[in-house]
Amino acid sequence: MTKDTKADKNEKHKAAMKKQQENVHESIERANVEKSVVVLLTGNGKGKSSSAFGMVMRALGYGQKVAVIQFIKGVQKSGEELFIANHLPEVFFYQMNTGFTWDTQDRSKDEQAARKTWEKAAQALSNPEYDLVVLDELTYMLSFKYLDEQTVLDTINARPEHQSVVITGRGGGAQLRDLADTVSEVKDIKHAFNDGVAARKGVDF
Ligand code: ATP
Ligand code: MG
Repeated sequence: MTKDTKADKNEKHKAAMKKQQENVHESIERANVEKSVVVLLTGNGKGKSSSAFGMVMRALGYGQKVAVIQFIKGVQKSGEELFIANHLPEVFFYQMNTGFTWDTQDRSKDEQAARKTWEKAAQALSNPEYDLVVLDELTYMLSFKYLDEQTVLDTINARPEHQSVVITGRGGGAQLRDLADTVSEVKDIKHAFNDGVAARKGVDF
């Protein structure tokens, strides 16, 4: 078998790239529906909330209006919370603020807090001013049955036409997956924490 010369390799590369370019152009032409989307970021790996905040940055870059509602956490301030509080007064930010559920150990208190937080989410989801609404860690409110699933789904479905929604959290259930236009599952390959590495500012929170 003769070995490819450098020129042969270049020709092959050029042909492959040309084919790829044609495929990309075809796909772009086919994707011609302009509509808002629901994005669900789920799975056991790290990267769900931080990806949602990446979309917040994107939206803000285009001068869009953003609301972020966080359904869990609170004790330790996260970098995104500090940044929004100190630098992005235009972003609506609400946090449930009860701490982790295994710390509170009080179901009725958790449920009350979840419902109060949902009210804020429902307000954002009915306000046409918002282009992007992030419902961070919402899935746990559904799996713990702190919120009524049908109400949540109906409210998301009835949102203003141009408004996109990002939902994060493990699980979430079949109905939420069906409703979402884009679903990504972040797979846990390994996490430093499981090797005893402490959660790190700017990386983990
Ligand atoms: P991030 O906010 O970093 O994008 P996440 O939203 O995907 O993470 P959560 O389940 O909300 O994940 O957990 C948030 C915290 O838990 C972060 O500090 C993250 O590093 C850590 N974490 C996420 N996944 C794992 C995992 N598989 N093992 C251990 N710790 C994890
Ligand atoms: Mg998260």
